Amino acid sequence: MISALEQYDPQIYELIRQEEARQSGAIRLIPSENYVSKAVMIASSSCFTNKYAEGYPGKRYYEGQQVTDLVENLAVTRAKKIFKADHANTQPYSGSVANIAAYNALINPGDTIMGLSLSHGGHLTHGWNVSATSRFYNSVQYSVDTKTGRLDYNQIEDLAKKHKPKIIISGATAYPREIDFKAFGEIAKKVGAYHVSDIAHISGLVVAGIHMSPVPYADIVSTTTHKTLRGPRGGMLLCKAEHSAKVNKSVFPGLQGGPHMHTMASLAVALAEADTKEFIEYAKQVVKNAKRLAKRLMEYGFDLVSGGTDNHLMLIDLRSKKIPGKKLAKALDRARIVGNYNTIPGDDSPAANPNGLRIGTPAVTTRGMKEDQMDLIAGFINRVAENIDNESVIEGTAKEVLLLCSQFRVPEHFIIPGKES
Ligand SMILES: *Cc1c(COP(=O)(O)O)cnc(C)c1O
Repeated sequence: MISALEQYDPQIYELIRQEEARQSGAIRLIPSENYVSKAVMIASSSCFTNKYAEGYPGKRYYEGQQVTDLVENLAVTRAKKIFKADHANTQPYSGSVANIAAYNALINPGDTIMGLSLSHGGHLTHGWNVSATSRFYNSVQYSVDTKTGRLDYNQIEDLAKKHKPKIIISGATAYPREIDFKAFGEIAKKVGAYHVSDIAHISGLVVAGIHMSPVPYADIVSTTTHKTLRGPRGGMLLCKAEHSAKVNKSVFPGLQGGPHMHTMASLAVALAEADTKEFIEYAKQVVKNAKRLAKRLMEYGFDLVSGGTDNHLMLIDLRSKKIPGKKLAKALDRARIVGNYNTIPGDDSPAANPNGLRIGTPAVTTRGMKEDQMDLIAGFINRVAENIDNESVIEGTAKEVLLLCSQFRVPEHFIIPGKES
């Protein structure tokens, strides 16, 4: 397929090649990114992109659904199995839409939602002030304890009792510790709120049993499909049987038109890949790598929010190093190490120029890197930080990174489901 593109659109072909080279020649530490398998990639560029399938299997608004219905049924069955959920909706276009669909399924515009503030690690769609979620709903935000960097469940309960939200959102986009979804479920029960849990970042860890699953404790669970779950870009909702009709109606016709069937076919492949021993090993290594990287960085004198990590990511608090997050992120990018600047809890600088750097291990672990390579990466990060204005050191580091990358090629296939080696 890709060689046909070379003929028809050499410009885009060339750009795809360039991006491929960038992805393989860099240590990608953005915790929301990964590398998908060739199988996932092939399915996502398949002829299903040509097909409209508004509705659900057996109840479509267009004809010609002989095959799409089978694909969607497979995706749903696989999702239910690995998340141990009563119901799954695999149609959401992205994690953001999945979240809005979850709220739309349960409450009315103007009702109160309560989520983690963006500047403390929450997602835009958890009611942050620039997000439409704070226009459609009355938004109350909880935060982490800025001393410990951790969620304070007593504070969350007090806030919930005070504001009586209709939905409490658990889950985060930049939180390095395990989240107690059971505690969130209990708080929601006490105040008569629904509990929506957003596991966009950690869904791969949840599937592998390394992070507590919110499925037993939440009314609706929302996730992206492309982060630790290692599937195509998209979103997904899981819920208890009692909410299944409302969830489906909220996604279609509530918010979306035709589902992206090529993405769904690709998601089905990724869900089968996630249902293997190899994936569990992968997810375990992601966490081992993150813990090792965190430990080494702390030995180099970096402060980590909450003093470490339980999951795939960490937040470096750069205030003690007196380096702005953006400056370090850009210098690291020149050294072929890609992270993202990020606010830290209680940051007194704005989100556009914050004091933190967010990094994680899902992508490097997919390349087969282990603890020894984390030691090297921590050393590279420290060297760049210590030589932040020295371009020749940064250039030299980039060369070493390229060498390391050449030893850990981006894999094409990880697992053939049902045919484990
Ligand atoms: C990434 C993320 C999302 C949004 O996903 P998109 O697919 O980018 O819309 C939602 N919630 C959380 C917690 C996330 O980390």
